[in-house]
Amino acid sequence: MITFYPGPSKIYPQVAEYLQDAVKEGILSQNHRSQAFMDMLKECISLFKQKLNIPTDYQVYFTSSATECWEIVAQSFTAKGSLHIYNGAFGQKWFDYNRKMAGDSAFDISFDYEDTIPILETDTSKYDILCITQNETSNATQVDVNQIPMAEDALIAFDVTSSIGGIELNWTKGDIWLASVQKCLGLPAGLGVMVCSPRALQHARTVGERKHYNSFLFIHENFEKFQTPYTPNVLAIYLLKRVMEQVADIDVISAKLKARNLDFCRFIEEKTIWKLLIDNESVRSDTVIAIEGVSEAIKDIKQKAKEAGITLGNGYGNWKETTFRIANFPAIEDWEFEALKTCLV
Ligand SMILES: *Cc1c(COP(=O)(O)O)cnc(C)c1O
Repeated sequence: MITFYPGPSKIYPQVAEYLQDAVKEGILSQNHRSQAFMDMLKECISLFKQKLNIPTDYQVYFTSSATECWEIVAQSFTAKGSLHIYNGAFGQKWFDYNRKMAGDSAFDISFDYEDTIPILETDTSKYDILCITQNETSNATQVDVNQIPMAEDALIAFDVTSSIGGIELNWTKGDIWLASVQKCLGLPAGLGVMVCSPRALQHARTVGERKHYNSFLFIHENFEKFQTPYTPNVLAIYLLKRVMEQVADIDVISAKLKARNLDFCRFIEEKTIWKLLIDNESVRSDTVIAIEGVSEAIKDIKQKAKEAGITLGNGYGNWKETTFRIANFPAIEDWEFEALKTCLV
């Protein structure tokens, strides 16, 4: 079974073995306040930072999902207001959450998916935080974080759910990076990740929000001792640790994915019945590819792929009938892309 679904997506095949090891090693039966758990968490974070090239002064936290991280951003980092700049469904959803929680202090600017992210002309001092979806999984676009000037008085939060572990990120360009593990990290769903700058921690201290089980400061204080506020998904943390031991450094993975993306896009451009949804090459995602066709052709290709044992990603929202999406995630192997190409001719 081959799957190109962009989340949940193909897990690393080695996970099967790691699951058995987790049971054998007894980590799943151990208390999460035990030394064994704390050592495992510490090791996991250390490997994660090392493989993804995260600056030493940035902190890594685990939650249960990217969605939970959206909520943490709204409750623990936002006192004045948030500004959401987005071009697709995930960015909009994040805005909708902040609206529900913070009401009128959540603002938004939307931009066209063929455009680069707009340069802000507004005064950012009325916001605590700018919220940007770095890789918009719904329409297969990405934002170049280097193009966004750091705001002096507002934090920048990036949703990197479908790019973390796939492409190199310039961590110094953001204060909060949130994600979950079921996309480029090749793991089963059920674990969220937050990477925070010293500036983010300092801001959370100023806001001082402590009302929730997942208030950021409470999470931080627990993670300082390699503990967690609630009984965590020990299995998911263990699996992440094992996958981090196995994967190459992010610059190697990133170069490989970018080359594979270019190759596949070129292949699509040569076909008359298919077209890339995103014309503007400079905003095309490296990790998710959306391909457009007439609805009959989309229906046929899905059937043909299914018969060949290949699952394609459905189009999202408005593009459900006229596009399909292909995940270009590290756990997917080159031979699987070759099988996909054979199917698409
Ligand atoms: C998948 C996805 C999410 C949601 O992740 P959960 O783990 O379901 O919370 C959020 N943002 C983006 C960009 C995504 O691709």
